[in-house]
Amino acid sequence: MVRILLHFAEELVEQPITSQIILELRVPINIIIAHVNSKGGEILAEIPDEALDKTVKAFREKGVEVSIPKLIEVDSEECFSCGTCVSLCPVEAISMDKDGSVVFDREKCVGSTCSVCVDACPTRAIKSVKQLGTINKAVLKRKQMK
Ligand code: SF4
Ligand code: SF4
Repeated sequence: MVRILLHFAEELVEQPITSQIILELRVPINIIIAHVNSKGGEILAEIPDEALDKTVKAFREKGVEVSIPKLIEVDSEECFSCGTCVSLCPVEAISMDKDGSVVFDREKCVGSTCSVCVDACPTRAIKSVKQLGTINKAVLKRKQMK
């Protein structure tokens, strides 16, 4: 599965674009998180790797901006269990084990759309990494999030 970030401009939010694309392409689009109001918004969604190209193309043809967020990785060798990331994570994707080691739940994490823990970690033990899999290089080139 690959995660994509959809940016909806104000004039698009009233249109059922996501459901149209699910029906047209028959692609399962799993919404991870959505922040949309009358002025526009963003949806973080997960789709099968093999459906990436056609799904991105379909959203862009309807005027939706699409980017590929990076994922977060924690290097336990660099971590000294200060707890900063645990206290700052807005979705409780990071917790501390009884032995003080950091436990990271990738399913909960919204990736580089957040990056609060990456910026806060004093030892740089947390990094943003590109998503692997069958991501089309042309798609990445057009819009890769920092
Ligand atoms: S902020 Fe960095 S050093 Fe502190 S617990 Fe998290 S990963 Fe470890
Ligand atoms: S990037 Fe954000 S959501 Fe993901 S683990 Fe870090 S603080 Fe939590």
